[in-house]
Amino acid sequence: MPAARLYPIFTQLAGRAVLVVGGGNVAERKTAALLEAGADVQVGATTFTPQLSAWAENGRISLIYGEFAEEWLDRQWLVVAATSDAAVNAQVAAATERRRIWTNVVDDAALSSFQVPAVIDRAPLVVAVSTAGAAPVLARLVREAIERVLDPSLGALAALAERWRGRIRGRFADLGQRRRFLERLFQGRVAELVRRGQLAVADAAIARELAVTETEPAAGSVVLVGAGPGDAGLLTLKGLRALNEADVILYDSLVGADVLALARRDAERIDVGKRAGAHSKSQDEIHELLLAQARTGKRVVRLKGGDPFVFGRGGEEIEFLRAHGIAYEVVPGVTAALACAAYAGIPLTHRDSAQSVRFVTAHCKASLDTLDWQALAAERQTLAVYMGVAGLERLRDRLVAHGRAATTPIALIENGSRTTQRVVLGDLANLPQVAREHAVVSPALLIVGEVAALGAQLHWFGAAPLTAAPPLARAA
Ligand code: SAH
Repeated sequence: MPAARLYPIFTQLAGRAVLVVGGGNVAERKTAALLEAGADVQVGATTFTPQLSAWAENGRISLIYGEFAEEWLDRQWLVVAATSDAAVNAQVAAATERRRIWTNVVDDAALSSFQVPAVIDRAPLVVAVSTAGAAPVLARLVREAIERVLDPSLGALAALAERWRGRIRGRFADLGQRRRFLERLFQGRVAELVRRGQLAVADAAIARELAVTETEPAAGSVVLVGAGPGDAGLLTLKGLRALNEADVILYDSLVGADVLALARRDAERIDVGKRAGAHSKSQDEIHELLLAQARTGKRVVRLKGGDPFVFGRGGEEIEFLRAHGIAYEVVPGVTAALACAAYAGIPLTHRDSAQSVRFVTAHCKASLDTLDWQALAAERQTLAVYMGVAGLERLRDRLVAHGRAATTPIALIENGSRTTQRVVLGDLANLPQVAREHAVVSPALLIVGEVAALGAQLHWFGAAPLTAAPPLARAA
């Protein structure tokens, strides 16, 4: 059974009694950190490092001489066991457990009721990293990585924001406006000045910006973001930033939960997806919703599966926004054809067999009828067909009728790039049969062309591809 995850907290220890058991170097380090937090530290041990003794002489800590005794725990808020004697540490852990005092036994996650994270210190900004004791070395590496990306001036910047907090709050009663102002503050000129150590100039700049922003109208905007096919790792950095800044997110059913989880926590999420073949919201309703949200001054993200401009009706949405004077941006996403091909080990073009690739959609009979079958059936090209799993028979028949060989390889990729991905390989002749045999469901993408056969050798993600059952097995 996996251990329950730890609940992260930051504690206020100023003026509160904390006991450190042990008087060696480790105890000294722990004491130093507790003193920085303003704790009222008592250190109990038989011997003490010179530093601990010196702190005691200055009155910064008090010492208890002797073997650990339960009375030491009276009135303590927190205990750190830092002796080199495992038995004593265990004794402290047992006693504090009985008394419900939070305790850290140094380097012993099992005995600890709280753990001390690796810390990136840009006080008042503090980042804490924990692996719940599972991999302290990993925690250290993560800490180093974060150290590298967080500029040392962030502490000064956070302190500056705190100084201006009241005035900023007074200027922007609206939470959204306030957040936008602060985001500009933390990313723009002011942050740059703080980085250069020009704090007075930074203060003047804030004063100026507060004055300017006052007259600026609160205009909402819409960012169309391609969420990619499912694997959250395929979201672009730009898409991620838009999700982090969103006030409200309108998302489709194809958008994976993992991608949505990356969005700003308190962004409102509205599901406008389609379900069971029926639109849960019509395109017109989506347009009106986008407009209504943007007009309240919000930053709206319209999050779509794959790419917004590939069979995603993104074009219609920005036409509508343009007509209503709403500012918009478009952030592309990895479209299903690219992702499914990559995750199935199927190159869409190939010097030997495919000089071009076509993205085709065929979601209903009417759309099948309007396709240029002559062109689609041409050799030396790959078709990436966005469609449900209905209509495969008709599609096969028309391609073959217009001259594409019945032996042309195909691949059906279901839930491409997700952990549930399945790939089914076959040829045009047995396409409907393999889809039925393996009960392929939506969303699935069909690849038609010589390249599809390469999936048999080049697959790398998830389970190996499925194929048609041999005739005997089928009969059984
Ligand atoms: N804008 C989207 C496509 C929307 S149309 C994009 O760029 O990917 C919906 C069709 O896309 C589905 O019927 C299916 O054919 C395909 N599709 C989307 N996500 C998919 C996925 N993860 N795996 C397989 N096919 C997918």
